[in-house]
Amino acid sequence: MISSQSAIFEILKQNKKKDRLSHAYLFYGEEGVGKKEMAYALACLLYCEHDGCLSCPTCQTILNGNHMNVEYIGIESTKKLISKEQILSLQEEFSKTSLVEGPRVYIVDGIDTASSSAQNSLLKFIEEPTNQAMTVGIFIAKDLSGVVPTIVSRCALFHFPSIDTKLRVEMITERNVLRLDAVLAAFLTNDISEAEQLVQGLEFMQAKEFFLKFLSLKNEKEAVLFYLQNASLIQNASAMNMFFRWLVGLYEDLLNPEELLFQEVYDRIKIVHSENPEELMKQFSLVLKLSSKMEYNVSSKNVFHELMTKLF
Ligand SMILES: [Zn+2]
Repeated sequence: MISSQSAIFEILKQNKKKDRLSHAYLFYGEEGVGKKEMAYALACLLYCEHDGCLSCPTCQTILNGNHMNVEYIGIESTKKLISKEQILSLQEEFSKTSLVEGPRVYIVDGIDTASSSAQNSLLKFIEEPTNQAMTVGIFIAKDLSGVVPTIVSRCALFHFPSIDTKLRVEMITERNVLRLDAVLAAFLTNDISEAEQLVQGLEFMQAKEFFLKFLSLKNEKEAVLFYLQNASLIQNASAMNMFFRWLVGLYEDLLNPEELLFQEVYDRIKIVHSENPEELMKQFSLVLKLSSKMEYNVSSKNVFHELMTKLF
């Protein structure tokens, strides 16, 4: 597994140990970052007697796609999407009792390509699967904004960071951009020249200053003052989009010590950085949910307000 995957798998293992697995997961991130592999690994975790070893016969059966209780549907190559028929027949399949005992898992790879009506037809199914066995749904998406908010809000979200963010940071730095600016820009664009331009823009500088000050807030009193002082920036959706992407990146960093992209800002961090991994995970899932709201043009002021009230 690549490092970001191991971090995610570790979190899932912890959830399993504490009997806190969700009944629905949403894995999102670019192509080739291991989302599908992780979906099968999660299925292994439900069945394996060795903590999701990925190598015992049970795990092998699952990983090879041969387990009776693990159903996978992917994008139909002719239609280039997940069709409503596929989703309906999956539900039909799950309404029948399985021949094999144990939890049941369905993986929908490409949920973001399904029409809104196809996605919405899943809502009831996610909440109350039609059979008795414990059922876990795993949704995979490249683009979170293609997933209807009603599904997003029902799922435990996991972002799979693109493997080459680090490489991009190096390439931007080579163009005489400060390292921290390069890190921040690498979260906003894949294009190196665009990143070089971006860091010189006023909006970027304002958003950066805002982000750094946010990290150093210690208590509610400071948070309220900060909110008032930055009222106009908080209403700027594009600046707040930057802010949330960075915040997501920072959490990924904190949860995955191998990455360390945001190292330079660590000593500023107060509230956001919790020593308690469970608390950190809770904050992270809050930040992920809010950042996906931002993609839906929900008022940035409301989203930021929610962040502040829940964090402080
Ligand atoms: Zn195993």
